[in-house]
Amino acid sequence: MTCQGANQGTWYEIGTWYDETIEEPVRAVVKLLRNNGFNTICSCGHTGVVEMEWYQDYEITKLWDLLSNRGYKDFAIEGHWETWPVYRRTLIVTLGSK
Ligand SMILES: [Zn+2]
Repeated sequence: MTCQGANQGTWYEIGTWYDETIEEPVRAVVKLLRNNGFNTICSCGHTGVVEMEWYQDYEITKLWDLLSNRGYKDFAIEGHWETWPVYRRTLIVTLGSK
């Protein structure tokens, strides 16, 4: 996922930030996720993949419900752990059809 740089936008500039930073095919879903508390890290409109920070286990259910309620189908959610050099957990969504 090299198409998008780190999410460094701040909320007051978020309107143009989305347009300039997020590839159009995933722009709506990245906006949806960020508006619902998911801090997206990177995304690619070509593959339909969005990666976000993951802190609490309930966020998996929240993510699933959020996408399902918005009509997304055939998506996959993958949990990702890294323990070195920095401990971090991320959720990776691969979108299917809508
Ligand atoms: Zn891309």
